[in-house]
Amino acid sequence: MRTVVNTHHHGDHTFGNCLFPAAAIVVHESTRTEAYAFGPARDLGVWDGPDWGDLTLDPPFVTFTDEIAVHAGDLRAAVRHVGTPAHTTNDSIVWLPDRSVLFCGDLIFHGGTPFLLMGSVAGAVEVLEQVVAPLGARTTVPGHGPVFEGTGPLEATLAYLRFVLDVAARAQAAGVTPLAAARETDLGRFAGWADPERIVGNLHRACAELAGTPRGGPIDVPAALADMVAYNGGAPLTCRA
Ligand SMILES: [Zn+2]
Repeated sequence: MRTVVNTHHHGDHTFGNCLFPAAAIVVHESTRTEAYAFGPARDLGVWDGPDWGDLTLDPPFVTFTDEIAVHAGDLRAAVRHVGTPAHTTNDSIVWLPDRSVLFCGDLIFHGGTPFLLMGSVAGAVEVLEQVVAPLGARTTVPGHGPVFEGTGPLEATLAYLRFVLDVAARAQAAGVTPLAAARETDLGRFAGWADPERIVGNLHRACAELAGTPRGGPIDVPAALADMVAYNGGAPLTCRA
């Protein structure tokens, strides 16, 4: 393996870097910063595993700010920062125009609930509408879930994000907490997606931004995760961040 691209800093996308000692690890500048800030693989106490094993912190060492190209023979892959906080503060996509293939990282969880606690719900809508959709990718490789053709999961993700923004706006107007709003909300068509308790974290993020926190700005992540566990009836969360 000569080159590894991390689409964002989350551990399930970066902890394995040390397993590719000969590879150039390519990331956005902020992904490197955030990977360092988080530190090595460890159990945070809110997720049900996983056992990370003995992984050393091996941060990325080739960084870019807007875009960098990686070439494999004649094939050009554009590694592109999405421009605004979305799933995290540091999301990148990898676009292979010659094959119409997009690696979108965790901007889309195919079959799972989107998770914006550490990014921005409004930002994710903007990125999916203005950065991802215009590419018109024939094939998309999401950060989690099966590869898909066409735009179905993209449109479903956008529908969910707009749903979250709508619930957040009503919760804000009524002075209801994110956890209470989540408990009162019928997830409807989204209830069958994996990790439905993420609605709580997503509402924490959306409500904070409605109250003036900038996109991707600091919020009380441990409190939001605790509320997700509470919504889950006390059960630990599954780790598919
Ligand atoms: Zn992630």
